Amino acid sequence: MDTVDFVYRFDPRNPSLKVPPDDAEAARKNLEDGNRMFSRWMYSCRTHDVTKGSPRYVVQCNGLEVGMVRKQDEMPRQAPFAVVVGCSDARVPTEMLFGQGFNDLFVIRVAGNVMGDVCMGSIDFALAALSESVKVVVMLGHSGCGAVTGAVDSYLEPLKFWARTTTPMLRSIQERIFVAVREAANGLQAVWGADAVNSPGYRTALIEGAVALNAAQAAFDLRQEVEKAAKWEIEVLFGVFNLHNHQVSMPVVPDAPVADENVHLSYAPTNPEEFKALAVQMAQFLKPRHFDAHHAADGSLDNGEAVE
Ligand SMILES: [Zn+2]
Repeated sequence: MDTVDFVYRFDPRNPSLKVPPDDAEAARKNLEDGNRMFSRWMYSCRTHDVTKGSPRYVVQCNGLEVGMVRKQDEMPRQAPFAVVVGCSDARVPTEMLFGQGFNDLFVIRVAGNVMGDVCMGSIDFALAALSESVKVVVMLGHSGCGAVTGAVDSYLEPLKFWARTTTPMLRSIQERIFVAVREAANGLQAVWGADAVNSPGYRTALIEGAVALNAAQAAFDLRQEVEKAAKWEIEVLFGVFNLHNHQVSMPVVPDAPVADENVHLSYAPTNPEEFKALAVQMAQFLKPRHFDAHHAADGSLDNGEAVE
């Protein structure tokens, strides 16, 4: 019977295989490499050829962290190298998609990856208590986000806003996303023209543009929090997990093929002007006719064949 193997491996002959990153750049590379491995594995699962063996995804881990306790009462010390703020969406499993295991990531997940007071409190805790090991803080959005979709639909049909968000808490999630939706709409209008809203594919483009802008704005907020804590050596990154190709990238080409070079975490914006530039860039990527040119110019793992 064919199997699809996802393996956490501790190798006692090579226990030091898992080396924590020394600095922010090494941490970024670690996350990106993990996502390259994960997206290749997902790709191999989708295109599985039984004659080539079963797709296998191996995550190295530390024996102590998986319960191989050496002495009585010995516990692993919490030492994540990254703080990740992501969406609660069940299709976006944070550790898996970054190729990480136990004690690697300090994860905060909330619908729409919006930053409320309580989430910010978790960040403050991580910056204060775990700063010895933490090298980067990552804001992770994802394509097809339900929370962003809800905000886009309320933006397009404001009269249905109250009916769609029946509790104040739900409303507050959408309200925090509206700024990103507005910025994405500005970008679409600038690139697609004054009649953009009536163009085919506008709603989908607005959702994907708002996903990128929402992650960028939250990353901007996170950077301010990190600077407030005077943790100058900690970098703030952001990216979007694409549900189609399982790759994390920024900026995001929604239908990009699976390719190592497409995995990329960007540095958080340092001023609001960068939102505008990202909105325009996303609007260009989301323009329907761009897709053909992109596929023709770009490579993928298997002879340039697009995934989906
Ligand atoms: Zn989501």
